[in-house]
Amino acid sequence: MTYVVGLTGGIGSGKTTVANLFAELGVPLIDADIVARQVVEKGAPLLSKIAEHFGDEILTSQGELDRAKLRQVIFHQEQEKIWLNNLLHPAIRQEMVSQIQACPAPYLLFVVPLLIENNLTEFCDRVIVIDVEPAIQLERATKRDQSKVETIKSIMASQVSQTERLRYADDVIENNLPLEQGLERIKTQVFTLHQQYLDLAKDKESECQKLS
Ligand code: ATP
Repeated sequence: MTYVVGLTGGIGSGKTTVANLFAELGVPLIDADIVARQVVEKGAPLLSKIAEHFGDEILTSQGELDRAKLRQVIFHQEQEKIWLNNLLHPAIRQEMVSQIQACPAPYLLFVVPLLIENNLTEFCDRVIVIDVEPAIQLERATKRDQSKVETIKSIMASQVSQTERLRYADDVIENNLPLEQGLERIKTQVFTLHQQYLDLAKDKESECQKLS
């Protein structure tokens, strides 16, 4: 099976920025946020189950999931939130596994904001954590999302601490410097890691061949 490199980091840490550099080298990406949207896209069996449970008012006029409405409905209803998570989480995991298994490349990058929080490290052969000072993370995410500082702070508080996240890291990419100063260094690091992952993927493949 394809060698899986997990990429994680807190909100606004630079996952997309770094993932794009791997993609430029031809590495396929599986993005957990995209998978989570795919399982409930228009026409998906799971979307029908959600509509059956919560009523058609949970759908937009185009028949898509109205995420804001769903968030509102489950906000103060713990039981409904549990019901939804029990429905979605196994389906999202299953879809991730299918996409990983279908990947023909030697290795892929699995981009997951909540890799640690949702116990998804089990899918990874290796984990990269993006390391950024919380104050910088707060500033970048606030600017990007045009959000209130308090909103980003509460999202940061709901995620694991950076100290905890770093405990899972095999590789760390530091992203404190502004891109004008730091981008070349990150690109060089990504290139070095890419060579390393290609070697590790080869090792895994020969191990698998020995076992089969
Ligand atoms: P999220 O999980 O919240 O989607 P992310 O980890 O994918 O975020 P990015 O979207 O890559 O993070 O970066 C957050 C914002 O910070 C973006 O607007 C990005 O352009 C900017 N950014 C990332 N790295 C740097 C940097 N080194 N210097 C300046 N801006 C940066």
